[in-house]
Amino acid sequence: MPSLVADVPTQDRPPSVDRLARSLAGVDLPHPLLVDAARAAIAAGDPDSAEDRARAMRRRLLAPVINGTGVLLHTNLGRAPLAWSQGADYSNLELDLETGERGDRQAGAPALLARACGAEAAMAVNNCASAVMLVLAALASGRDAVVSRGELVEIGGGFRVPDVMAWSGARLVEVGTTNRTRRADFAAAVADGANDVAVVVQVHQSNFRVVGYTEAPRTAELADLGPPLVADIGSGLLDSRCGWLAGGPPPWLDSEPAARQSIEAGAALVTFSGDKLLGGPQAGIIAGRADLVDACRRHPLARALRPGSLVLAALQHTALAYLRGDGDAIEFWRMAALTPAQLRERLGAYEGLREVSTAATPGGGTLPGVEIESVGVAATGDHVNRLRSRPRPIIARVVDGATVVDLRTVHPDDDAEVAAALREAASVTEPPA
Ligand SMILES: *Cc1c(COP(=O)(O)O)cnc(C)c1O
Repeated sequence: MPSLVADVPTQDRPPSVDRLARSLAGVDLPHPLLVDAARAAIAAGDPDSAEDRARAMRRRLLAPVINGTGVLLHTNLGRAPLAWSQGADYSNLELDLETGERGDRQAGAPALLARACGAEAAMAVNNCASAVMLVLAALASGRDAVVSRGELVEIGGGFRVPDVMAWSGARLVEVGTTNRTRRADFAAAVADGANDVAVVVQVHQSNFRVVGYTEAPRTAELADLGPPLVADIGSGLLDSRCGWLAGGPPPWLDSEPAARQSIEAGAALVTFSGDKLLGGPQAGIIAGRADLVDACRRHPLARALRPGSLVLAALQHTALAYLRGDGDAIEFWRMAALTPAQLRERLGAYEGLREVSTAATPGGGTLPGVEIESVGVAATGDHVNRLRSRPRPIIARVVDGATVVDLRTVHPDDDAEVAAALREAASVTEPPA
């Protein structure tokens, strides 16, 4: 992949590079990057390719896209979308405005999330992988952590439970089998005098399911073994009752573990992501017993994994919406809760295109196989490349020879733009090869 950074000294640039670079001024990039594109084109013996190279460079930069896939938490599209902006202001990130003394960045959003899920305390780190790592480092380094062989999983993006546990310095004691593990397996490992068990760990099999002859202990069954139970629930569903949704829990949530219910069942700590079902920014939350959260906060790794004020402000915005019971203010839940009838009301904007029934999915490595009845529009033919190369890219899918956009993940404000793009794409005939 070509680099965005100039790696060749610019002093003895041939004039033609400069001229070519200046001819690219229509591409919205700083001049040094246009020079890179011009130079690469000349080096390839194809000066005419300079503009394409510059445009390709521009398209590698982070930019908004329209998600027409129906995958609500699309890993490639940044998981949960989040509306949050702030000015160039200072904040009281670490200033206690009451006393004027040094404050605590974890006293804001994390405390609100603890309140929202019934935990004594909580803290935030960069993502759930760091949350698990920090918990194990703080509570079990040099000691044993018991985990089921059925939960030594890879969550995606290289998060492998055994690796994270090893890096934390905790020793892994595996119990049970891939498909069946019982409370007695955990109890035996805890009672075994050869082990020094610091924590019992339960990891949600977020992105896959084992079906058939399976067995796994419930959270409540592992809560009274002695060592604290750490439940990595992953998705960040705060409360299975979904009090922030007017209609209560959607049926597709099924048996997804929730923070409040895991804590009620006896988990000493839960860990979860900020940008999956929580619908907030990328973050990892550790919530539960105050003494254990405190041990995590005091660990030196906590300093390395702490989020910045931008993330904490966005997390606070999200947590306040939960406490207000305002699911519509959390973009993920606003989209997830739309009924097919509500989606169909928007079809007027898509005149000339065909309505199709679609199956949206939660995505983001949560709820594998779960489908949410949804509504889409289709245009005959494969137009995904054309839609993706628009100034504001539209990410669509091809189903049965037609390009389909699922309305659930498209913001209503974008309906007119998506409709125009689909109509335009569908009516354009490809030039003969
Ligand atoms: C997604 C997930 C993780 C990793 O979360 P990140 O926020 O992506 O680091 C860890 N554990 C479980 C159970 C997950 O579902």
